[in-house]
Amino acid sequence: MAVLMAEPVVAYSWQMNQWQDLQRLIESGRLPHALLLAGPDSIGKLRFAKALAGFLLCESPSKLAACGECRSCHFQIDASHPDYREICPEEGKRQIGIDQVRSLQNFSAQHAHRDNGKKIVVIHPAEAMNVFTANALLKTLEEPSAGTLLVLVSHSSSQLLPTIRSRCVQLRFGIPDAGLAESWLRDYVGDQSLANKLLMETGGRPLAARQTFENDGLALRDRYDAGLLAMYEGRKTALQIADELLDQEIVQLLDWWCARLMELSRYQLASQPLQSEIWHSFKALPSKLVMHTLQRGLELRASFARGVALNKRLILETLFLEWMALCQNRAAS
Ligand SMILES: [Zn+2]
Repeated sequence: MAVLMAEPVVAYSWQMNQWQDLQRLIESGRLPHALLLAGPDSIGKLRFAKALAGFLLCESPSKLAACGECRSCHFQIDASHPDYREICPEEGKRQIGIDQVRSLQNFSAQHAHRDNGKKIVVIHPAEAMNVFTANALLKTLEEPSAGTLLVLVSHSSSQLLPTIRSRCVQLRFGIPDAGLAESWLRDYVGDQSLANKLLMETGGRPLAARQTFENDGLALRDRYDAGLLAMYEGRKTALQIADELLDQEIVQLLDWWCARLMELSRYQLASQPLQSEIWHSFKALPSKLVMHTLQRGLELRASFARGVALNKRLILETLFLEWMALCQNRAAS
């Protein structure tokens, strides 16, 4: 009789160092009751959390992954697993609700369904908890029940309450190794130079690169570049461009903006090549001001990604007006 296999979730190839760090903690019985997986978004931290949950819940895991055969593995790591909970903002909401966090107190008081088994809670992104929700979570963190592991996933851990951070063991995830990310993406998009370009455009974040590919994001970026050039050449005003781009996903737009500014900075400070032809028009802008604009872009991007309610039109208009002012000052000087 064929054994029915479930496909276990495994960590990405670029996460093996973190995976081995955890293995050492598990093997020596020092796995803490709360982990914080911290690092930039779109590099696979949530998948890592799920791989860890699958591994800890599996009845006969190998060194690297869950077995894919046992009862627990057949539940898969989703809402159906009785010893697994995932907490994230509900559909259409930006923040995690306080009731969602309160329900954890019951969950962690229950016994695991397997003798001496673990229960796992994954909260993502942890910065989607406001101060009240975070305080409700503190209760669970302060009185951990045996066998419950809390895994907080955060793209901007500096925004978490210090009292939350200090109760978790932090596992840092940086921008993945370029070679590993590239070979993973090449398998997906089927072309080396395309994979390379997508990763360049997304700051080396593989999942953002894949999404850019799926959304035809490179063509969108060409459109944004063309808009910027039209404004620079006086064919359109900053307000017109802002208006034309208003229907675009703002985080995606700011991703493009920051990626281009980063490229321009690297060109100015380290003579690295400019990918986008159009941006050659801006190479003579003062590098300090370019860096400053980039910093602002990154802050805005983080705010939008966090769900802060900002006026999109106003932000875009200001961004483009300021950029034009910068270009005109340069031309006048
Ligand atoms: Zn298993």
